[in-house]
Amino acid sequence: MNRLPSATGAIYLQPVGDAVRLELLETLAARLAAVFGLSCRVLSVPVDPTPFFDPERGQYWATAILRELAAAVEGSAVRLLGITEADLFVPVLTFVFGEAQLGGQCALVSLHRLREEFYGLPPNPALLMERAVKEAVHELGHTYGLRHCSDWRCVMASTHSVERLDLKEPQFCPACRRIVMDPGNRS
Ligand SMILES: [Zn+2]
Ligand SMILES: [Zn+2]
Repeated sequence: MNRLPSATGAIYLQPVGDAVRLELLETLAARLAAVFGLSCRVLSVPVDPTPFFDPERGQYWATAILRELAAAVEGSAVRLLGITEADLFVPVLTFVFGEAQLGGQCALVSLHRLREEFYGLPPNPALLMERAVKEAVHELGHTYGLRHCSDWRCVMASTHSVERLDLKEPQFCPACRRIVMDPGNRS
């Protein structure tokens, strides 16, 4: 496990599994720093998702990984965003792009179904990054207490397909942005 300095409000990107490319994490960190106006750093030691693999589903249990991340941030004031190539599920759903603790410190995003290759299409690194930014901003938004937004362009709009994900903006609508930027919500 990585040791986390407790810089208030900083966002740390935590690779989950060793398949996540560092270059992608660094680019994502720069994009998130710009959206949230916070420092965003990439942690070097990956978390092992193997204990959370469900052999019957062939997927990893998102909630259990989140719990593992939450244990790592206990006593600190940082946000921790797990990024994985693993396909994630929660028991009631076929899959999830990600999951977050509402009003908590931890969130998790899977790149698995954000890749064009998953849909039998040629790789598109630029599109993958746009999708990863939207999904990461969305899940982090939940940690600021935001629920799903009825504005379909807002990054907090609920999306269950990449088609819908591609339609929305990589940022918050004014109402959601006000909540994220509230000084009381920054610690
Ligand atoms: Zn959501
Ligand atoms: Zn919104």
